[in-house]
Order: sequence, then C-alpha cells, then structure tokens
Amino acid sequence: MGIADGRASSSSPESLFAPATADGRPVAPVLGATITPWVLDLIRRYRAAAPSMRVCAHLAEDPDEGAVWQSSIFDLRTCRRAECTGAALAVLEERLGHPPEDEPARCTTCGRTGVAVRGVGVAVGPTMLRGTVCDHCLAAQPIPTPSSATDPVAGVDAPSAQRQIEPDDEPLDVDVPELAAAESRIPFDAVGRRALRRGWLMAEACARTTAPGLAPDRAVIGGLLVRAAKLAKGLAGPAPTDGAFVHDLAFRSLVETTTTLWWLLRAEAADAATATAAFRDAGPAGPGSGQVRDRLADLGREADHTTLLSPSPDAVPGSWRELTTLHLSERPDGFALDLGNPEIGPIQALIAGEHLSLACADYVDRMPTDLDPDQLRRLADELTELRANVEVAYAEAFPESGDA
Ligand SMILES: [Zn+2]
Ligand SMILES: [Zn+2]
Repeated sequence: MGIADGRASSSSPESLFAPATADGRPVAPVLGATITPWVLDLIRRYRAAAPSMRVCAHLAEDPDEGAVWQSSIFDLRTCRRAECTGAALAVLEERLGHPPEDEPARCTTCGRTGVAVRGVGVAVGPTMLRGTVCDHCLAAQPIPTPSSATDPVAGVDAPSAQRQIEPDDEPLDVDVPELAAAESRIPFDAVGRRALRRGWLMAEACARTTAPGLAPDRAVIGGLLVRAAKLAKGLAGPAPTDGAFVHDLAFRSLVETTTTLWWLLRAEAADAATATAAFRDAGPAGPGSGQVRDRLADLGREADHTTLLSPSPDAVPGSWRELTTLHLSERPDGFALDLGNPEIGPIQALIAGEHLSLACADYVDRMPTDLDPDQLRRLADELTELRANVEVAYAEAFPESGDA
C-alpha cells in the first residue's frame, strides 16, 4: 500500500498535509500596468492549483501566515518553517522517485528542459510563489496586465463553493401570471440571464473543486466544463443593447460545448472512453458542430436544438449558410448586405442554463469533486421547473411568437 493507490500511507510525508480551509482572506496580487509573462504564468499556475491545495498544519490553523508555494509541488502550500518546506521536498522526492536535485532543470514557464534556469519568486499576499525560469523567458517583453491576473485568489472548499452558487438576492422562482402579463420581453430576458448565471455558477463551482491530476479522458470533461463556464460567464451579464454578433457566436459555442460535455458525461463508460480519445485526436479543429443535433437527440433533447440555435441551427460559423442567414439578405436583383444583429432570446438563454446545470449535476456524479451531488441535482431541477413555468408565461405573453 502507500501512494500506489493514490492515497498517502501514514508514514508518507503526504500525510502531513491537510485540505486548506477557505477561511483565509482572499488576496489580490499587486501588479503594475504591465507584467512580464513569466510572472503572469506563475500566478496563473498558482491560481489554478489553489482550489484543491493542501497545506501544512500551521497554515491549516492560520491561513494568513507567511507561506511558500513551489510550482513543482503545485498542490501543496507550506509555512516558511524549515520542517514544513522540508516535508514538501520529501513529498516531491517520493513522487519523483529520486532526489529533486537529480531532476533535469526545467523552465516553469516554457517547459523546456536542459536549459540554464534561475530560481524566481513572486509574492501574492503572504505567499511567495517560486519557480525556475530560463533566460529566454526572463528576457521576454512585459505585456499589459490582464484584469484576470489581479482578481483575488482564494482557496475554495466544497461548502463555500456550494454557497456561492445560490446568492440570496437571486431567487430563481417566478410568478407565472405576473410574468404572463408582461408587455415587453424585458422581464423574460432577466429570467433568461438568471438561468444562464445559475449554469455558470454551478460550472464554476465544479471547476474550482475538481482535484487536479486528471487522466486524459477525464481532462477532456474538465476542459469542456471550464470552457462552458467561461462562455456562460461572459454571456450571463447584461446583453449589449444591439445584441452584438459576438454574443451570438459565443452563445453557439456555449451550446456546442455544453452539449458535448453533457453527452460525454451521459455516455456509457466504454463509449465515453472512445469518444474522449476521438476528441483528443480530432486535431486543431475539434469535433464538428454538425454533431450537436445528434448528441442532443441522444440526450432526449432534440427539440431544443432548433430553439437553441435558431435562426440557423446547422450553420457553421463563417460558412456560406451563416452569411446568407445573418449577414446577407436575398432580393430579386441580388444580395444586399445586412448589418442587423441576431439576439439571444430569453428562452434560448434559459435552455442553455438548464442544459449546463444538468451537465454539472452529472459531472459531480462522475468527477473527483467534493460537492454535494444532491444539492447540485436540486439546483439543476429548479432550472427545469423554472423553464417549464417561463415557457407557459412566454406563450401567454407573446402568443404570436411561436418560439423564442
Ligand atoms: Zn508549517
Ligand atoms: Zn523558459
């Protein structure tokens, strides 16, 4: 027994580390207007590892104590006491199977080995992030600091991640008669965005609490989840007044990603392994969007395909089909150019949020997170109920519309 089954035996240095609590104050990196790419990369790696990081006993007691984090042992954070930094090195040695000094020098940023590297550090709040960077990466030109780099970095445990999915000020129920009496689409749009927001928050909670060290088959699922979370986040805010075309593109991409994610999660184990392998082998283009309809049919949701992707469900972005549907209008004397923008309807947003939340409920059943499966299922079911109510109200409010 021991680390072979992925668990630490009591004699392993791994056993000295405990899951981090989320009680520490979130800290935001203090950064200038520009940033050197290796600094950004180190912060990005730390941020990605933070949700599932384990800490030494001292940091478990006081999360705000001065700490050290090494990119080579990304899932551990220790205080600065020699016994704790030493324990982290012992874990690394155990994992490598040889002393860390015997490991070939490797640049944290570009990943090249066998080049001269220098030890570097960046402070994020009380934590010193350490890495080794090659001369080439050290000499790279600074770039403008992206806003994501200065967002707070917080450790997230499952209970706090779950609380964040349900903000108190955003109940998801609606009064059907009141909504049905609406004279404009505005209240429906607001409900659609709330649904999309719920999907985003669920996907983000799943992502934040997923343990690292995923095998490639599971990494496909995790990567799709994160992609859906990012797209849904961008779409859940207020829509631009002119219904910008970029929103339409992002929405299509969200539908495609969520569908593939959900379909893979629902596939039987043997099928899923084949499908995820095919996904990785598909090359830079990825699997075709033409599969969305078939996959929704497999999920028993074929009818949602037309609603989600109207007015051109099967048009590949940038294709002639898309041009003639969205950017050109045909007239007897030829084509005219059309600067009008498609809008994401409230029922479309609602269904996209519902699908993403249902995929997240399945995700928790299949992937390594500590989230409560019953809570995630309940949150997804609430969206299914919301959808049914809103569709009734919408049909009453706009009987002529026929669809979203
Ligand atoms: Zn310690
Ligand atoms: Zn490098």
